[in-house]
Amino acid sequence: MPVRISRLLPLFTVLLACSSPVTRTTTNRVAPPIALRAPTPSPPASLSTPLRIRWWEDRIYRMDDADRREAYLRLGELYLLEDNGMEARRCFRQGLEGRLSTAEIAQAEYGIGRAYLLDSRPGLATKHLRAGLFGATGPGAEECRYLLALCEGETLAATPELLQRVQPYLPDEGMVASYAGAGSMRFLDVSRASWRAKPIRQNHELMGPPTRITIHHSAEPLSSRKLSDSRKEVLRIQSIHQDDKHWADIGYHFLIDPAGRVFEGRPIDVQGAHAGNKATNRGNIGICLLGNFKAQPERGPDYAIEQRPTSTQLASLEKLVNSLRGSFRIQREQVFHHGDFRQTECPGWRLRGWIRNYRSNSS
Ligand SMILES: [Zn+2]
Repeated sequence: MPVRISRLLPLFTVLLACSSPVTRTTTNRVAPPIALRAPTPSPPASLSTPLRIRWWEDRIYRMDDADRREAYLRLGELYLLEDNGMEARRCFRQGLEGRLSTAEIAQAEYGIGRAYLLDSRPGLATKHLRAGLFGATGPGAEECRYLLALCEGETLAATPELLQRVQPYLPDEGMVASYAGAGSMRFLDVSRASWRAKPIRQNHELMGPPTRITIHHSAEPLSSRKLSDSRKEVLRIQSIHQDDKHWADIGYHFLIDPAGRVFEGRPIDVQGAHAGNKATNRGNIGICLLGNFKAQPERGPDYAIEQRPTSTQLASLEKLVNSLRGSFRIQREQVFHHGDFRQTECPGWRLRGWIRNYRSNSS
């Protein structure tokens, strides 16, 4: 284990001051090093977080270098507890200015990453979370890996304990089950605010309790599983529907991306625009799976490739349809595909097969 020079200095000074003979080996090294050094003092555990912050801040400038670096890491953690991302970043950065061990650098970087997440800046957090993984071990490494994946658009499997630990830092309030407790909308992963939806326009009609569900594909190729790409795609569909078709909002009530994330579309209490006309849209929830599930070579080489819905996309679809049916007491036979209402290839033969199976499944 490498010995930090600064940690040796106080010991060295004390030994000289009391004129005791300094134990030296022939290679001129002081031994034993760290074990004799008093641990960094810390505030009584009974103090509240703000008082512990005060305690450290009052003493930090009188500390020696090694203690001060450790104090900055502790302070950073306390500021995170207080939801103060800016101060937490300042402390972790101060800590990084000294010589730190690999594990301490990882802790400081992970701290800066979490501080950015507290401020809803996942884009800025990513680089630090990645640095925080380097040399990190234990529960911190597990949390860091989970949060980094989220920032990059992936959701890793997690135990309830891990989810609880990372809860304050989840990158976006619209993401990852933070809708728990929001009634029938708890299955949403990405809120309108999260994909930066433009507001709904005046020309809409309210919808009473829905009585049926219709499933579509977007007919646009999309293979990326990144959250940022899906957000862009949903926003693009909204722009086409609002600006080119002059609809009030995106036509669908829900959209599901290739990673299985459920996006909030048009509000559920507003009639959709997806099934063909006013009569077929009435009381009809529209769900769109992002992707092109029917080859359209006439639209160019990208469209000639027939994609298939991903298994996570279908799993999310089943969950969503089940939840909606439960919430609104919709019969299983009232789950349709677009082709049930008009002449169209939407949503492709695979998804039609899935819907046929779903309807005939009596469980
Ligand atoms: Zn359709």
